[in-house]
Amino acid sequence: MTHTRETTLEINLPAIKHNYNLLKGKIKPTTKFMAVVKAYAYGSDAPKIAIFLEKLGVDYFAVAYTDEGIALRNAGITKPILVLHPLPVHFNEIINYRLEPSLYSFNVLEVFLEAAKNEKEYPIHLKFNTGLNRLGFVKMDIALISGKLLHQKNVYVASVFSHLGASEDLNEKDFTMRQILSFKEIKASLAEKFSHKPLYHLLNTSGILNYTTSAQFDMVRSGIGLYGFGNDAQYDALFKTVLSLKSVISQIHNIAPGNSIGYNQGHIADKAMKTATIPLGHADGIGRQYGKGKAHVTIHGHKCPIVGNVCMDMLMVDVSEVQCKEGDEVLVFGKSPTAGEFAATAGTISYELIAGISQRVRRKIITH
Ligand SMILES: *Cc1c(COP(=O)(O)O)cnc(C)c1O
Repeated sequence: MTHTRETTLEINLPAIKHNYNLLKGKIKPTTKFMAVVKAYAYGSDAPKIAIFLEKLGVDYFAVAYTDEGIALRNAGITKPILVLHPLPVHFNEIINYRLEPSLYSFNVLEVFLEAAKNEKEYPIHLKFNTGLNRLGFVKMDIALISGKLLHQKNVYVASVFSHLGASEDLNEKDFTMRQILSFKEIKASLAEKFSHKPLYHLLNTSGILNYTTSAQFDMVRSGIGLYGFGNDAQYDALFKTVLSLKSVISQIHNIAPGNSIGYNQGHIADKAMKTATIPLGHADGIGRQYGKGKAHVTIHGHKCPIVGNVCMDMLMVDVSEVQCKEGDEVLVFGKSPTAGEFAATAGTISYELIAGISQRVRRKIITH
């Protein structure tokens, strides 16, 4: 493989295929699969990944916001796209681009019904809150919801869903089981309310891994698993690495004892040391919390801790013990350390690190 010559996020499509097949293998062949490609496909490249996943046969896509759905339509995606968190100001665009809104409150339901008053059976999705307390109707709302939807032909309920708040943490199994029970109650009280049967769905990636027998319903929604993370060492090992962030050494400095490195003298050399400057900073998604020795990058297989404060466009690492030169390749995260391991050095998680890799970083698609 050719050497990286600039900061690059490599996106490995065969690894996505492996992860997709792994997740599909956990569910019944009849269960539909919704691929979550919100936030630039977790910081990677939503159009390219969605096109790839559409060919692999996913049934549905999900994004968080309307613009993300429009970008997928503009890229040629024809499968249904659920917008998880649409805002009323975008309802006309939602309809123009044939996106499908998640409706989570009476206010958004009313506004959408008005926006869709010239439509025929426009697909909508009802989001229920079963414990996350973030977005969603509650079970008590059902009578009023069905009253509003009865005797109108402008929209139809394509699906009913909720979201688990702790599916990755088996210490919180009781909480999750209560959410599952609550969703089953919602499903039971919605039965017979609509002229057709909507799809029901609850599980995210960790839900698929931990609760697939008790709560699979008609569809599952997976994001992080497709990108290679199972939120648990045992599951992580089954997934393949999709995203690798690489960079290069821009310059090497020899620092005399007593001299400082970076803004605000973030590090003061207590002995002679050698540093490498890397063209990657907090504007690229590697925040200041990784500085001051918390995280390291890997150069020629050696761990090189970040010294001092991460700058906007650069960071400096300690290469005192490493034979290296300007232009040499730097691995930030990938197979080892994984993005999850790198994130953990600053007390955060894979989701935050990868979704935060900014659009300034060049993406490179690896196809084989
Ligand atoms: C982001 C999101 C998902 C995907 O979760 P993963 O843990 O990445 O699989 C599923 N459902 C909803 C409602 C989400 O917001």
